[in-house]
Amino acid sequence: MAQEKRVVYADNAATTPVSPSVFRAMEPFYTTHYGNPSSLYSLGRQAKLPLEDARRTVAACLNAEPGEIYFTSGGSEADNWAIKGAAHLLAKKGKKHIVTTKFEHHAVLHTCAALEKEGFEVTYLDVHSNGVVRPEEVEKALREDTALVSVMFANNEIGTLQPVGEIGAICRSRGVWFHTDAVQAAGTVPIDVKAQHIDLLSLSAHKFHGPKGVGALYCRQGVAIPNLIDGGAQERGRRAGTENVAGIVGLAAALQEACASMEERARRLTKMRDRLIAGALQIERSRLNGDPEKRLPGNVSLCFEGIEGESLLLLLDLKGVCGSSGSACTSGSLDPSHVLLSIGLPHEVAHGSLRLSLSGQNTEEDVDYILQVLPPVVAQLRAMSPLWEEIQNGGVSYEIREF
Ligand SMILES: *Cc1c(COP(=O)(O)O)cnc(C)c1O
Repeated sequence: MAQEKRVVYADNAATTPVSPSVFRAMEPFYTTHYGNPSSLYSLGRQAKLPLEDARRTVAACLNAEPGEIYFTSGGSEADNWAIKGAAHLLAKKGKKHIVTTKFEHHAVLHTCAALEKEGFEVTYLDVHSNGVVRPEEVEKALREDTALVSVMFANNEIGTLQPVGEIGAICRSRGVWFHTDAVQAAGTVPIDVKAQHIDLLSLSAHKFHGPKGVGALYCRQGVAIPNLIDGGAQERGRRAGTENVAGIVGLAAALQEACASMEERARRLTKMRDRLIAGALQIERSRLNGDPEKRLPGNVSLCFEGIEGESLLLLLDLKGVCGSSGSACTSGSLDPSHVLLSIGLPHEVAHGSLRLSLSGQNTEEDVDYILQVLPPVVAQLRAMSPLWEEIQNGGVSYEIREF
C-alpha cells in the first residue's frame, strides 16, 4: 500500500499559521465592526475599545504599561524604529556609538549598517561558540558615547536564548538604552521588561500564530524616540495612519493565547525537540548548532558535513517536510549564514545547515516522520557529493573555532 504523504510544517521560526481562535477574534473587524477607530460615532468606538484592550493585553504579557506599547507593521519596523530612533535622538547629545552582535537578524544588522553610513560607529560583538553572548563582553564594549545596546532575546536561526536580564542591568547601571529584538521569544519564553531592564523591545504577531504584517514596539516611559510616521494622532501621534484594527486584535489574542499556554507547551516542545536532536545526531558527521539547553523549546539547528543545505531542503520538501537552511544561496548570495559563521563554523560546514522549528501544532508523529525521512535523504545527497567522498578519504580538515 502506498504510504500516505504527510506534510510536516517545521519552519515556525519563519512564520506560523494563524490559530483558529485568533482568526475568529479578527473576523468581525473586517465585516461588522469596520469603523475607523478615530471616528466618534458608535461604529468607530466599536473599533477603538478593542484597540485599547489589545494594548492592555500586550502590555500585561510583557509586564509593561499600556502607554508603552506602540503597534507597528511587524518586527522589522519595530527594530528600525527603536534603533534609528534612539540613535538619532542621542546623537544630539553627542552619543554616536551603538553596540550590537554579529548574529542579529538583518532587520537589526542592516539598520546598524545604514546608521554607519550616516556616521554612527557600531561595535559588532562576537558570539560565544555556544551561540550565547557574554554580558561582560557587552560591558567591555560600552563607551562614554554609547547610545544604545541591541542584543536579541533569542536567535532566529540557532534558537539560543541570551542573558537579556544581565545585559539590561549592565546597560541601566551605565545609563545606556537597551533594545532587544524579541521576535522569536515573545509568547514562547517569559519576558518581563521591568525585571530585565529593557528600554525598547520588538515583537511580531506572525511568529506566535497571529497575522502577518502587524507587530509592536515596547518603548519605556521616558524613552522619547522621534515619531516614526507623522500624520494623524494614532499611536499617540508617534506612528500615524489608520490602525490595522483586525491585525492588532489578532496580535493581542495570539499573544494572550501563547502566554497562557507557554509553560505546558514549552515542556511538550522541549521533549520533542530533544528527541529530534538526539535522533538526527545519529547521522554521522552531524552537529547541533548552539547550546543544547539555552535554546528555544522548538528550535533544532543542525549541520551535516558534505552536503548543501539547499539540496537537503528540496529533497525534504519532496517528502513533505518544510524546514529552512541557514545558508543564503537562494537569496542570490553564496555566503553561508552570518549566524553560523559568528559561532565559529567554517564555511563548508555552515553550508550544510538545516533548521527545523516546531510549534505547539506539531506532534510526536511529526518528529517520527522527520526522523524517518531525514537519514536516507542525507545519505542520498552524500552519495552524490564529491566533498563527502573527500571527507571520507580523510582529505578534508576543518577548524571549528571554539571561543
Ligand atoms: C521574523 C523576525 C524579524 C522580522 O519580523 P517581521 O514581522 O517579519 O518583519 C525580526 N527579527 C527576528 C529575530 C525575526 O525572527
